[in-house]
Parts: sequence; structure tokens; C-alpha cells
Amino acid sequence: MTADTNGIIEETEAFGARNYHPLPIVISKAEGVWAEDPEGNRYLDMLSAYSALNHGHRHPKIVQALKDQADKVTLTSRAFHNDQLGRFYRLLSRMTGKPKILPMNTGAEAVETALKAARRWAYRVKKVPADQAEIIVCEGNFHGRTITVSSFSSSETYRKDFGPFTPGFKLIPYGDLEALEQAITPNTAALLVEPIQGEAGIVIPPDGYLQGASRLCKSRNILFMADEIQTGFGRTGKQFACDWESVVPDVYIVGKALGGGVFPISAVAADEAVLGVFEPGSHGSTFGGNPLGCAVAIAAMQVMEDEGLAERSFRLGAYFMEKLRELRHPAVREIRGRGLFIGLELSGPARPYCERLKELGMLCKETHETTIRFAPPLTIAQTELDWAVERIRHVFGPV
Ligand code: PLP
Repeated sequence: MTADTNGIIEETEAFGARNYHPLPIVISKAEGVWAEDPEGNRYLDMLSAYSALNHGHRHPKIVQALKDQADKVTLTSRAFHNDQLGRFYRLLSRMTGKPKILPMNTGAEAVETALKAARRWAYRVKKVPADQAEIIVCEGNFHGRTITVSSFSSSETYRKDFGPFTPGFKLIPYGDLEALEQAITPNTAALLVEPIQGEAGIVIPPDGYLQGASRLCKSRNILFMADEIQTGFGRTGKQFACDWESVVPDVYIVGKALGGGVFPISAVAADEAVLGVFEPGSHGSTFGGNPLGCAVAIAAMQVMEDEGLAERSFRLGAYFMEKLRELRHPAVREIRGRGLFIGLELSGPARPYCERLKELGMLCKETHETTIRFAPPLTIAQTELDWAVERIRHVFGPV
């Protein structure tokens, strides 16, 4: 096997399970918004590892934090304290406005944590009868890949032959307040919702939906749990996508960019009444809250603030969207987005267009069949967006 693109792909395909279908490009180096393959070809990264790379690749301050911490201590387990966890808590608490934090590693684990918290809260605080708690979720949702999370997916691809599934979830249409009201029973513990559905294809709910849902939840004593794993930390042009409607959820679920694209770390942020349901031994993770991840996340949060990534996303997203709206091509049906979180809805398969754009030096990926997601690092320069627009115009240009 040689270490060129074809050799690497061949080796990967030979030994790997086939649970992904990547574009045929190998990234062997990356810096900022640019990725490079083994042959030295450069590509503009317009996917940002599904929004985990909001800071760009290898942000120097985040990589430095990783190196510094790696020279001290990397893992303690939660059997002992470490000197980074408290600082991490304090900073994330400030960013979310929530007094309590529970750290995990991946997004799906943080979602599972929120679900466990909601169920316990229902039994212990709301007094729902044992094992009767219900959680409302939305069609088109994506919250991760565990069995429980797959249990309430509305996608056949995510569920097929993975049963039996976890009960206790109610699926309703996304963005539909009437359906939400009708789905609520005295046993409802929580609404789990993405403020903008990312994997579904950048689906933005109707104006007022988040406000209305939040109000309904409050009036019926239900937890409003926002999955901000993909939308959080500036991706949509605000710190959190819920900020677009000035909604403060009861529970924030965060991950991805929290680790600065360098180290996996996720968390649940909520009030004492919610996270207080966990007593020692009831929930945990060997790697959750490890000092390496915490040091990286602290640096990542500081960079978000110092570099005003949310404001950049707001400003550059509006600019990019305006340029995209100038596209006139029969295949482009709709352009929607907030900040640098933009979906191009096509009338047919999106994959061939992604492959064409790759040939022109731009990396993006279809989500579902017909949507191209543009989600570059929030550190991207306007000139680099212009560079991207030129390529997109080349593929979808005026006809
Ligand atoms: N929730 C949302 C909204 C996501 O977009 C994702 C991943 O794409 C997840 C949860 C799962 O995160 P992870 O892949 O880190 O488990």
C-alpha cells in the first residue's frame, strides 16, 4: 500500500465497516479553513466536520492548550478531582447562563444524559407515575446514533433492523405548535428539539415556534431541552440558535465546537432542579470531564469570545447568503440558513454537485439526498467566501 490518496482509500475501505460514504478525498493536513491531500492539492473546507470546526482547523491557541495540558495530566477519571474541570464548568456556565454542568464526550452521550435527567426530573420533581414519563421529539430530528436516540428517529435509514427500541417517545411534526399542544399529557417530561434541524437539511422552524414551544412547556411544567450540538457556539450567527427568538431553554445540550475541533467534549447545562437529580453513581463516563478535554474546551470558549465568532458568522453569513441568492439555476429550489449555516435545496441529487465542487477545490457534503450544506469555519475571511462563491457560480452559474 502506498500513502497516496488511492492507496489510503483502498486500505480504509478494505478494513473499515461501511457505515460512511465519504467523498473520495483524503485530508492529510489542514490549517484554518484549508485542507490538503497527500498530493498537495488544497481544498476550502465548507463543512467544518459537521460544525465541530467552527474555529477552523488547528487553531493555534487551542492546539497550544492541548499541548500544555498534555504535558501535565490528561486523564484522572472522576474518581478524583482535576484542576481543569471547575474552570470549564465556570466558563460554560457563564456562556449558557445555567448554574450546573454535566460533562460528557460525544453529542449522543450528552443527549442521553439530558434524557435521563428529564425522566428523573419527571418522577422526582413533577411526580409522574413510575416508568410513565414521555418525551416529545420532532420528525426529521437528529440527536445521535445510540439505540435510544435511534428509537425516536423518523428516518428508516437510522432505525432499520436496530430494534427493539426504547419506549417513551412521541414524535410530532417539526415547527407545529398545535401538534405539540395536542401531544402533551400529564406524563410529559420534556420536549427535545433542535432549534434549527441540521442533519434534516438546515430546516428553520416558522417564526415564533421556539417562543411558542418554550411558553407552552413552561405553562404545562415540561422541560424545554434544546439540542444545540450543531447549532451552538455561533454557528447560526448567534451564540445559540435559541437566541434568534430570545428563548432560554431549561436544558442546553452542547458538543462539537465545544472541543474546538481538537478534542471530543460535550455537556448538558441546566438548573440545579434538573441536574440535581443525579446522585453519585447514578450516571457518569470514564473520560467525561477529563482535564485534556476541559483545557481544550476552555481555550475554545475563550477563542469564541475573543474573536467574536458568533458576530462573524452573523455578518459573513448574511453576505454569503446574498451572493448565493444571485444564483439562477433550474436545479436550485431554495436557499435557506442563518449565519454560516446554509442549505441549498436542489430539485435532484446533491451528490454530483458536491463532487464537482470538490474537483474545483471546495469541500462540502450533501445532507439527505437533495440538500448541500454550506457550513465553513466561522474564522473564514470574506475573500475566501468570494473564492467559494466563484466555484459555486461555476457549478450553478447563470444559465
Ligand atoms: N445532535 C445534533 C443536533 C447533531 O447534529 C449531532 C451530530 O451531528 C448529534 C446530536 C450527535 O453528536 P455526536 O455525533 O457527537 O454523537
